[in-house]
Amino acid sequence: MPKVIAVNAGSSSIKYKLFIMPEEKVVCSGLVDRIGHQDGIFKITYNKEEHKEVLPILEHGKGVELILEALKKYHIVEDLSEIKAVGHRVVQGGKYFAKSTIFDENTAAIIEKLIPLDPLHAPAHLLGYHAFKKALPDALELAVFDTAFHQSMAEEDALFPIPYELTEKYDIRRYGAHGTSHQFLAETGRALFLQDVKHPRIISCHIGSGASLCAIKDGKSVATSMGLTPLGGVMMGTRSGDLDPSILDYISTCTGKDVHEIYTILNKKSGLLGVSGLSNDTRDIEEAIKNGNQQAILAGAIFARRIADYIGQYFVRLGGADLIIFSAGIGENSDYFREEILKRVEEALNLKIDYQKNKDLNHQTALISKEDSPIKVAIIKTDEELMIARDLEKTLNGTL
Ligand code: ADP
Repeated sequence: MPKVIAVNAGSSSIKYKLFIMPEEKVVCSGLVDRIGHQDGIFKITYNKEEHKEVLPILEHGKGVELILEALKKYHIVEDLSEIKAVGHRVVQGGKYFAKSTIFDENTAAIIEKLIPLDPLHAPAHLLGYHAFKKALPDALELAVFDTAFHQSMAEEDALFPIPYELTEKYDIRRYGAHGTSHQFLAETGRALFLQDVKHPRIISCHIGSGASLCAIKDGKSVATSMGLTPLGGVMMGTRSGDLDPSILDYISTCTGKDVHEIYTILNKKSGLLGVSGLSNDTRDIEEAIKNGNQQAILAGAIFARRIADYIGQYFVRLGGADLIIFSAGIGENSDYFREEILKRVEEALNLKIDYQKNKDLNHQTALISKEDSPIKVAIIKTDEELMIARDLEKTLNGTL
């Protein structure tokens, strides 16, 4: 019964979850937050009780130390050697990784090379890797890439129509993201709802503050909405998603801002936040819509429209669909936005939705389509950490 940890290291935080495998039992989970600050936060939830401490956590190494100390303090492990493997979520694997890969110095060197593609997360992943390597030198470390699942895309789906020389020289292509989640959703959706379908066609909608859609055929990603970086695709909490690229030049001419400033606007000040002028959080947007706020109504409508358009596109891309999945913060919890999206595609796709079920079944994994719907529609709770733990177990068994 090996214990394994799934780790998500960000620039100032480390999220973690300890599993016993193959039982897939979550033993504890937690978060180290505000790394780099005197008032860092350490949290661990064990036996349904959350313990929290505020203390200086100046670097990732200290955060990892606190995690491991807590595991011993609460007798979650008696000896650190019980932890056989550590799996790190890595956002960008570029063209180099089509599956989870042993995290060693070679992998670290490639991730380092990819920093220009993901300056926000890649350095944090490397800090997380080095900190765990130092603290648990005998544990296996694995890098689990958000991009790996999408490496199966054909060139016509992945490449952008720019001069080929640029594509080749700088590896410019659609890498996508949320791959671990889309793979989990497709596997779960197939097992729960498509047992009798030989070649399942699935449209997976991971809609959280970051959002992406994925077209999945026979378990493989054939198209996804995020692009070179997570800025592409549908509208998100603060990201614009797809745009006419001339907008960049035009904003620059009008405002005198340079490309980096505009890029920041498109990443951090656009999307639901930018259009509504209120918030990037759908809970606030829904409330404002109820109160008749016109900007919120517009933001919500564009949001739903863009996701609906991608569903239509992927229906065509897959030659039909057997299952549409809603997941992540908004997909799992917002019956309002699921309904807004589905209303925009149901006629064309001949969907039969049980809108009462849609209202009643937030936070659950369940079908919201009626028996006679030619395409099933489901809410599925995503679990990226469990996917990481499964890959760790397979690696330990030599079956990855
Ligand atoms: P991340 O991309 O940060 O992982 P999540 O998948 O956790 O994001 O999604 C967070 C978003 O989910 C919030 O910003 C909010 O818009 C939305 N959300 C969470 N809970 C609810 C809810 N109960 N109702 C509506 N929207 C929700």
